Amino acid sequence: MTTCSPVSHALTAGGLRSGDQAPEAVPGSEPIRFLDLQSMNAEVWPEISERWQTLFASGEFIGGRAVEEFERSWAAYCGVRHAVGVGNGTDALVLSLRALGLKHDDEVIVPANTFVATAEAVVLAGASPRFADVCPDTLLLTPESVRAALTPRSRVLVVVQLYGQVADMDALAEVADEAGLFIVEDAAQAHGARWRDGRAGSFGLAGCFSFYPGKNLGAAGDAGAVVTDDDALADRLRVLRDHGRTGSHHAHIEVGTNSRLDALQAVVLSAKLRRLDAWNASRRQLMARYRENLDGSAARLLSVAAPVTPAHHLAVVRVPRRADVRAGLAERGIATGIHYPTPCHLSPAFTDYFDRPLPVAEAAAEEILSLPLSPHLSTADVDRVSEALLDLLHGLESKR
Ligand SMILES: *Cc1c(COP(=O)(O)O)cnc(C)c1O
Repeated sequence: MTTCSPVSHALTAGGLRSGDQAPEAVPGSEPIRFLDLQSMNAEVWPEISERWQTLFASGEFIGGRAVEEFERSWAAYCGVRHAVGVGNGTDALVLSLRALGLKHDDEVIVPANTFVATAEAVVLAGASPRFADVCPDTLLLTPESVRAALTPRSRVLVVVQLYGQVADMDALAEVADEAGLFIVEDAAQAHGARWRDGRAGSFGLAGCFSFYPGKNLGAAGDAGAVVTDDDALADRLRVLRDHGRTGSHHAHIEVGTNSRLDALQAVVLSAKLRRLDAWNASRRQLMARYRENLDGSAARLLSVAAPVTPAHHLAVVRVPRRADVRAGLAERGIATGIHYPTPCHLSPAFTDYFDRPLPVAEAAAEEILSLPLSPHLSTADVDRVSEALLDLLHGLESKR
């Protein structure tokens, strides 16, 4: 359960989830939270409370205007024709893959270094995940790693835009074309990130989003969406998410499921969407500061390829002696996360799909550490985290 958890950084209303290293108070310095969801929520609360009141009085909880409004604005923001709201990000992936009509023998290529839901969705959609290694500098898929994972059974390539970065979509589209694969994007960590002029989620046949509270665009509970330019796919997803209904309440044309976006969540998402660009810009500024502070040190931030404007969902550094570094930061009141400690191909849940070692993902899993990052974090806090990190690395080095 703690393995591959995307929520090790997530704050519930009151504080840290179990499994996090809770920051302890140190005299003279306030603890630094991993994610400051409270400040984001406070910014949107006046607008949300007003709209929730109206919605509650109307009783329009499932579907309706609030959901349609958010779906329209999310599609427009991503630069595509359709956004189909669903219950969560995992279902966004499952329903997209189901809509492609995969069969039991079909393989879906997924990176080994991702949240477990990416691979889980493939199995839930009735196909087999085939794990691919990642690039050591970005921890994203590369054309070479995808080529190495291709088999005659490959049908779909799921490109995960991990940590708010975007993979090389030109090169990956070329490989997918050559091999006759559909591209589905897992953009659950990349709301608003760009590759050249396009938004994450708009590059494949379908772009899957999670609006889990801790994501860059987060609801007040579970929510998700699929974006697509394909009219037929959008229609199919609308049928699948609502018990296979075609419009009429009692006409079920296939076995669907119940995975709809709640109106109450749509209201939260519409309010937060208006702030997403500003919040992402703040994340980029803070990351630039981390980069400046840590430049040339043993704490190596992942690199960003030139045509990418990242959304920086997470601030991931690779450090030696991670357990000691992490404990040292916790002692100084600084909360961190690990995304993810076990690459999916080594997770007990996926032993049936293990076929070969993937050295880059495996080595990275030992070293990666996610530093505090959220739009309302101060530059002074970034400096404090950086100084503590440099100090710890220096101390560990001289103790060798
Ligand atoms: C969060 C996440 C998901 C799953 O989203 P849920 O809304 O939690 O189901 C899938 N893939 C990645 C990369 C994620 O970070």
